[in-house]
Amino acid sequence: MPAFAPFAVHPVVRESRETLEDREGHGAIETIKFVLQHEDGLETESVIIPMIRGDRVTTTLCVSSQVGCAMGCTFCETAQMGLMKSLTAEQIVMQWWVSTHRIGVRPKNIVFMGMGEPTDNLDAVLAAVEIFAGHDGAHVPATNITISTVGNPAGIARIGALVDRHGFHKLNLAVSLNAPNDAIRASIMPVNRAWSMAALRDAIVAFPKYGRGAMCIEYVLIPGVNDAPEHCDEVCAYLRGIRCSLNVIPYNPRRNSPWGAPTEASVLAFMARAIAQGQFTKRRGTKGRSQMAACGQLGNEEIRKRKFVGVSLPIQSEGSRAS
Ligand code: SF4
Repeated sequence: MPAFAPFAVHPVVRESRETLEDREGHGAIETIKFVLQHEDGLETESVIIPMIRGDRVTTTLCVSSQVGCAMGCTFCETAQMGLMKSLTAEQIVMQWWVSTHRIGVRPKNIVFMGMGEPTDNLDAVLAAVEIFAGHDGAHVPATNITISTVGNPAGIARIGALVDRHGFHKLNLAVSLNAPNDAIRASIMPVNRAWSMAALRDAIVAFPKYGRGAMCIEYVLIPGVNDAPEHCDEVCAYLRGIRCSLNVIPYNPRRNSPWGAPTEASVLAFMARAIAQGQFTKRRGTKGRSQMAACGQLGNEEIRKRKFVGVSLPIQSEGSRAS
């Protein structure tokens, strides 16, 4: 495990909660978004997301790896900020510490799906993963940790090298595909001009397996962009032969978005068409939409306009170290 110096825990300057419908008798469950303010005035956002598994409710912590993001995906709120800075491993781990010890929710799972592209800050991300998984750290098994990437083949290979190490074989990778072909992908994800879908596919195929379950392929369904029947067919052809779950995510409109959310009928039709072609397909929920805490929505307008924002909760300060 990497050396881990004591650090001052950044204060929680905002926290918002969205209570979800109790459809399955689990009582009130809520999505919690919290904002940490750094010494330089910049802020990171993290989200605690409840997950219903049968008769149990578990929690997933969505952590940020950067403030803002340089990748420029056109559907993403965070992209509007540009990249303001990459986080240190300590600042990533701090999000888990605050969730566990300040908010009082010890997450079962950790996903790198908050602000930032993890492969754009891999030294810190991989060090944080080691701390998360370490017996002297957060002690979250690697099988409960997911790194989500925009699809950087070299980054995927580096994550694969960690997966090859004992104790990390079941670390999960999620890839944001979001398009059926290079032309559409390049139009909504500028990175596709540097890393083609063919290169991405090679990297996915080469990723170590170790008997793992299906890899997550994320697909944000954007009306009029990537949701046509022929798009579904292309995606299924692209994924054929890859053991993966196609996770369809109904688009959460960012502020000033040129696109709305897809209709329920179009989401169901896309999924049904993929399933009919033998593609294992799931729908990912959009918990937190009303508080801008859902996928691609982190990085609120206040943070974008100015580096330092007003404090709405009492500032807490404490010298401590992650446990
Ligand atoms: S979707 Fe992810 S990679 Fe793309 S701009 Fe947003 S945070 Fe960055």
